[in-house]
Amino acid sequence: MIFSSQIKSQIKAIFSDCDDTITHQSLLHSKTLNTLERLKEKGFWLVLVSGRPAGWADCLMRILPIDAMVFENGAGVMIREKTKIKTVRLASDKNIVEERQILQTLFDSLKKEIPHLKLATDQPYRLYDYAIDFIEEPPPLSATEIEKVLTFLNKTPGITAKLSSIHINYWYGQHTKVTACQYLLDIEGTKRSLDKNNVLYCGDSPNDEPLFQFFPESLGVANIKLFWDKLQFHPKYLTTKEGGNGFQEFAEELLT
Ligand SMILES: [Mg+2]
Repeated sequence: MIFSSQIKSQIKAIFSDCDDTITHQSLLHSKTLNTLERLKEKGFWLVLVSGRPAGWADCLMRILPIDAMVFENGAGVMIREKTKIKTVRLASDKNIVEERQILQTLFDSLKKEIPHLKLATDQPYRLYDYAIDFIEEPPPLSATEIEKVLTFLNKTPGITAKLSSIHINYWYGQHTKVTACQYLLDIEGTKRSLDKNNVLYCGDSPNDEPLFQFFPESLGVANIKLFWDKLQFHPKYLTTKEGGNGFQEFAEELLT
């Protein structure tokens, strides 16, 4: 048993990472989709919190039984409003053209050092951030190369860089997954009389770490053990299974 009966009755919302948390080896399995449908039917507020592009958020909001989705690490959110999907851009558009040119220049500089470096295949659908793929498609980057990229980006003034389970995302601005979740709690949570104490946050990677710190109730699917030593803030709960199977594992407890 993962949750006490008190915590079980307290949790009214699931905020979850997407890649390798609801997916399993990159696929969304039918059993996990069924779990999402059952959570929704039971009245849970369902929010995906992802580094994936706005284009993915538009698609997932239209085909999955979710209420909202944070995209591009907090650059914006999409919210279901009856039959419409509302998009809220939280990142600043003020200098977006110049900033994207600099993000490209940073990638070009890194590629001189690491010739097999590549952008994620979903890069064309991103509004704000850049995503370097380190393992979604071959060739992968080594741990040393990932560290080199993160160190270079983190020392660049104004840039935020985060490691997901598949990409290194970097962008201008102070927005993060936390600021976007806070926005959703302020706007949508208030309407539902819910605050962060009613949320269970689920993730699997270092870019989920600020959420493990922010939400009192947080959970890692078992594959987070790969990154355990990199984390300063760990999830409160851990599943025994990985990815989507881990998501199903804890959800069954909430559904029974
Ligand atoms: Mg992930």
